[in-house]
Order: sequence, then structure tokens, then C-alpha cells
Amino acid sequence: MLVGWVYGYSPIKRRSVHKLGIWKIRCPVGNVVVKGYLSAIKTRSDNPITYDVTIIGAGIAGSCFAAALGSFEIFKNLKIAVVDPNDIKDVANWIPPTDSFNTGAWKYTYADRVMPYSKVVVTDFLGQGSLNFADLISEGVSSEHPAFLIENSNLHSACAKALIHNNNSNITFFQGKVVNFSSFDSSNSTTSHNYSDNASSLTFPQILLSSNQTIRSKLVVAADGSNSLIRRYANIPSSSLSYNQFGLVANLVFDQLNQTAFQRFLPTGPIAILPLSNGFANLVWSIDSHYVDKLKNVSDITFIKLVNMAFRYQNYSDFEYILNSIHHDGSLPESLDLDQEFNWRINSQNQNGSFSTLINSFNEPIQLPPLVMDITPNSRQGFPLRISNSKKYYSSRIALIGDAAHTMHPLAGMGFNSGVTDSIQLCSLLKNAILTGSDIGSKEYVLKPYNDKRYSQNVLLQAAVDHTFLLFQSQNKMVTCSRGILMNLLNKFPLIKNNIVKSIMY
Ligand SMILES: Cc1cc2nc3c(=O)[nH]c(=O)nc-3n(C[C@H](O)[C@H](O)[C@H](O)COP(=O)(O)OP(=O)(O)OC[C@H]3O[C@@H](n4cnc5c(N)ncnc54)[C@H](O)[C@@H]3O)c2cc1C
Repeated sequence: MLVGWVYGYSPIKRRSVHKLGIWKIRCPVGNVVVKGYLSAIKTRSDNPITYDVTIIGAGIAGSCFAAALGSFEIFKNLKIAVVDPNDIKDVANWIPPTDSFNTGAWKYTYADRVMPYSKVVVTDFLGQGSLNFADLISEGVSSEHPAFLIENSNLHSACAKALIHNNNSNITFFQGKVVNFSSFDSSNSTTSHNYSDNASSLTFPQILLSSNQTIRSKLVVAADGSNSLIRRYANIPSSSLSYNQFGLVANLVFDQLNQTAFQRFLPTGPIAILPLSNGFANLVWSIDSHYVDKLKNVSDITFIKLVNMAFRYQNYSDFEYILNSIHHDGSLPESLDLDQEFNWRINSQNQNGSFSTLINSFNEPIQLPPLVMDITPNSRQGFPLRISNSKKYYSSRIALIGDAAHTMHPLAGMGFNSGVTDSIQLCSLLKNAILTGSDIGSKEYVLKPYNDKRYSQNVLLQAAVDHTFLLFQSQNKMVTCSRGILMNLLNKFPLIKNNIVKSIMY
């Protein structure tokens, strides 16, 4: 028996739904009795358009999933809808910010903005540990680069272009917001439905758009971000915990920068320089909430100095003193001369005054990033950081992907990567369902297997990322000493390091 209801937030909506009464229908296929409340959506639009797959949200996860569906021949017969308030053409027409960097910087094609990682240097401010992950290719472990760095906008735009240009006549884009949603609990149904069959398509979820159009869909893929409306309509609980940190991002400019990424763990959160092409790099600085306004408000020149200090200072208390001295509006006390402070500290740290020397707890030199020379004006943005996980990644004819299903701390850069794995897994199950003639919205063949696979993998990944965060946040002397020693020891065993990288990447 299928039991359906209309989801809603406000008591008013619920009451109006109850007024609509209960209806019954017998489905010709599978002889299933459907019982439920008449959909509130139906009363607002009489001619819903029926789709096989509807993707709610064309952010990076939704557009990536849609592009994947568009690229496989097996999905060409599926009628697919993509819904997002933003115009997909605007996303596809993204142009790199030509005026934001030094002359001639952006004359390369977008592919030139994709940087293969060659090496990652991870250091720990308090524990004085350092770990160099060398290139798996030069180590002979892998024939291809284990990872690439690409700007979010570049990849998002590429997915949108693929959707528009790949002759995907089966994909329709709806510019608008989902404003209401209803679905039926078809948990007992594994029968195959055809959307031309009015009776069975009545059991499909219904989506009301801000444009007042109504869509029915065999399968709804919710890719509408961490505050997913679809997840809430589907009554899927999500547990969420704030890190009380912001991820501060910025575009930095260097004199020279090779394919090495740098990450240093500060007690206030990790700071990472992720190289792009031509001396540019993305900065991701995870920082405790009470510092974020200071770092957003300081002048560009001061910010550059702070980033250089964050990677070069040997004693955390010196750096903390400077952070604490900055006023919330970003101004500096008159008594604080950052240039003088920086030069004096570095000179006292290094007898030769070199900017490129820092030592770990084994007295070995640590490889440092080159000095930041410039920053793209207005490129600093802060995002609140949370860990969240939905109790399950599906409901009746609904699958959650990307941030709608899970979010994590960006210290390992795995948030969207995990969303890509969601897409790969869901695509593969949809392919199997089509090949075996099963319902693409079936719980048994698609949704539950998707959940079983992805949920456990994500929980493990989130736990690993979260524990790393907690481990490096600790200022306990025993902990900092041990993690420094552990990192420096591990650094001496390339085989173990390579296996760690391989297990993360593949
Ligand atoms: C500082 C920081 C650094 C990060 N670094 C990395 C990294 O290095 N590597 C990595 O893999 N991940 C990283 N992440 C994580 C990554 O950014 C996210 O996982 C990813 O952007 C989530 O994409 P999404 O499409 O799931 O969600 P979103 O980007 O939130 O997209 C949701 C989409 O749904 C649409 N939408 C919302 N509501 C509705 C509605 N009612 N109707 C229709 N459409 C709707 C929105 O318009 C939007 O387009 C980082 C995150 C942060 C904060």
C-alpha cells in the first residue's frame, strides 16, 4: 500500500492540506492501491509535465550529475528536467576575471586554469611536524595525476556548457525555485511505471515551481544545497554541527609557484595555498569565527602580510598576538608595525635572515611556499563551516546528492568530491535499472542501494576529516608533541605516504 501526504512547514499549510481530504486510486500496473491526501500542488496547476528524472538545483553537484546523465547514450531516452533559480546560460558563459590579476594573466584557455597537483606539503604550527606528499607519477606509483585543482566557477561553467552544447534535447532547464513539493510513500512498490500512464504517474512526486509550472517526476534528485528544501519536504532529518569557523577564500598572486600545494595547521584552523596556473593560487583559510571579520576587513596589504606570517612564524603565540591586536574593523593599533614585526621575527628565527627556512621538531628544514605578492581585490569571501549528514540519502522517489546530503570541513577538499561520488554511484544504479527494465525511482533497485553504498562511505570520510580537524585543534602539549613526531616520522616512509594518498584519491 502506498501512503501519500503533502509536506509542509507552516501549520496553515498543513491545515489546508487536511481540508483536501483523502483519495484512493487503483493503479493498473502492479495492482497497487494508492491512498493519500490530495496534493496541494495539483490544485494550483492542472497540467503537470511528467519527467523521468528531475534535478532540483543546478549548483556544481546538480549540474555535474545532469551533465553526466547527458553524456551517456543509455540515458538519452530519459526525459530530464533541471530546476534552478539561476540562468544556466549565465553559468556557462562564466568568463575568468580578466581585470583582476596582473597583465596578460588570463589569456590562456580555461583548460590552462586546471592545475595537476604535483606535491602537497602539510605542516603543523604547534607540533612542528611536516609531511611532504610527493608526486605519485614521479615516484612511479601512478601513471596519472592523483588530483587536479580547478576553480569552482570553471568546473561549474564547464558542466553548464556540457548541458547546453551537447545536443541534450532530452534535458529541459527550468529557471525558477521549487516552492512546493509533494510525494507519496511508495516504499512497497518495485513495479515499473510508465509516465504516460496517468494513474501510476499520480504516485510520482510533484514539484511546484515559482513560475507556477508543475512537474511530476519518476525520480527527483535533490541537489539543492545544504539547506535543501526537498530534504525538508521529504521529512529526512539532517544532523548538523557548526565548527564555529569560517572558510575564508581569496585569490593570491605569487612571483613564482609550481605545482605544490601548502597546508599549515594552526590551532585556529588550517590555512592552505592551492596553486593555479601562472603564479596564481586559491587561499582557503579556515579560521575561528571571532577572527573572520578582522581578516575580511584588514587592507589587502595587511592581509598579504598575515598570510605570509601564518606560513612562516615559528611560534604560534607571536602570530596569535598579532591576530588579537587587529581591531574588528580591520584597523591596526598605531603601535603595531607589521613590516617591522615580520622582519624582526623572521630574522630572529633564522640566523641568515632567510624567508625560506623553518624547522620541524626533528630540526629538519620545512619547505615553505613562496611569499604572497598580491591579492585579487575583493576576492576575500567567508563561508560558515559545518559538518552535516542526512539520516538517509533517499525517500520515496527522491535521492539526495551533494551538500543536500552531506557537508564537511574543507580541510581535505573532499566536500564536492564526495558529491561527485554520489553522482557516479547514482548514475551507475540508474544504468542498471534501465538495463534490467526496472523502475528508475525504485527503492529496491536504485534508492536503497544508493543509500547503502554512499551513506557508509560518507560517514567514514566525515569521521576522518572531523577527527583530523579535532586532532590539529588540540593545544595540549602531549598531543601537539606526539602529532609532530608522528608526522615527521611518517615523512620518512614514502611507501606508507603513497598508500595514504592512493587510498584518498582512488
Ligand atoms: C571554503 C570552502 C572550501 C571548499 N573547498 C572544497 C574543495 O577544495 N574541494 C571540494 O571537493 N569541495 C570543497 N568545498 C565544498 C564544496 O564547495 C561544496 O561541497 C559544493 O559547492 C556543494 O555543491 P552543491 O551543488 O551540492 O550545493 P550548492 O553549491 O549549494 O548548490 C545548490 C543549488 O541549488 C539551488 N537551489 C537551492 N534551493 C533551490 C530551490 N528551492 N529550487 C531550485 N533550486 C534551488 C541553488 O540555486 C544552487 O544552484 C569547499 C567548501 C567551502 C565552504
